[in-house]
Amino acid sequence: MTHSFSSKLPDVGTTIFTVMSQLAAETGALNLSQGFPSFDPPAELTDRISWHLNHGANQYAPMPGISALREAIAEKTSRIQGRALNVDTEITVCTGATEGLFSAITALVRTGDEVIVFDPAYDSYEPAVALAGGVTRHVPLLIDENGHDFHPDWQRLGETINDKTRLIILNFPHNPTGAILSAEEIQVLAGLVRETNCYLLSDEVYEHIVFDGEPHRSLLSHDELWERSMVICSFGKTFHATGWKLGYCAAPAHLTTEFRKVHQFTTFAVSTPMQHGIADFLTSDPGFYEALPAFYQEKRDYFCKLLAESRFRLLPARSTFFQIVDYGDISDEDDVTLAKRWTRDIGVASIPLTVFCETPFTGPRLRLCFAKDDATLEQAAERLCRI
Ligand code: PMP
Ligand code: GLN
Repeated sequence: MTHSFSSKLPDVGTTIFTVMSQLAAETGALNLSQGFPSFDPPAELTDRISWHLNHGANQYAPMPGISALREAIAEKTSRIQGRALNVDTEITVCTGATEGLFSAITALVRTGDEVIVFDPAYDSYEPAVALAGGVTRHVPLLIDENGHDFHPDWQRLGETINDKTRLIILNFPHNPTGAILSAEEIQVLAGLVRETNCYLLSDEVYEHIVFDGEPHRSLLSHDELWERSMVICSFGKTFHATGWKLGYCAAPAHLTTEFRKVHQFTTFAVSTPMQHGIADFLTSDPGFYEALPAFYQEKRDYFCKLLAESRFRLLPARSTFFQIVDYGDISDEDDVTLAKRWTRDIGVASIPLTVFCETPFTGPRLRLCFAKDDATLEQAAERLCRI
């Protein structure tokens, strides 16, 4: 007897990050596609984790996270965003932002609910919404008249919100464009949701990588928006440790209760020695993440300088560790085909932007990760300048 299998995610293939990293590995290309640093986490941090591994921190952690880490997160949030989080009821440590996002969406979205995302949208949001029975509505980021800067289309957002809208997912600092929100835009958002019942899920994994002296404007810092928000952060970007998969969800108590109902059965608890090590390090050395904007801004500027002689047009990177390049003067091929072809032929892997959009509107653009040692950036730029 043959069984026909009806997929719950019929339109979902393998994520572009896996596709491009695999192609880079197969072809020996420089991998500027999937976003991860080529440098190590600080030795003081790995020393603390090793210490805890060797001193008994090897059994289940409490479901919401160890208290020392939640206290360290609360201290950081209070200092940077001015919000005093309740350590017991408003912070949950999770298995990277990916689990946090999935648990939040699962906790909030019911069958038939609408969820709004801004395109280009990180690729984990829509499948999670679909699995929860929701429907994703896409609002594009607008490109300014110079074809440069990306900003949410607030008017479209206002037109898209309706009685079925349960959740709006925001991601600022934004992957892949580096867009950030201004203080005025946060007020606009507050005005648009004020009379609605919708919740906000704010993916802030790049909270510590914002350039040119701009602050990170978290939804945590806005009293009115905070009441309806779940904010997801990750230590992966902050500590050059994307492979550790450790993050947290900050949300008011009534939302944290719902978040934990899902989190406890998605993963239950997160690696114990890692939590202890990160708690020690966060408490002892805030200087590490305070230095990240300058560290990555220097990388950005160096990479842009190296690419100055190329035929690419470089868009301003205001945050994150990604540079968007416009290849309109070089080729009219679609971005997915071109990203794969240049991985093979040029030896540099990138990420195409259209895969993050319902309607491709982002133009002839690719994303390059500059979280790499200078030698890799130099070699990549040399190859890109030859095109
Ligand atoms: N959201 C965004 C916007 C990301 O770029 C990433 C990848 N780092 C994640 C979520 C997932 O983060 P994590 O690796 O902590 O699961
Ligand atoms: N966030 C990373 C990026 O944007 C990739 C994460 C992943 O591979 N799932 O490149």
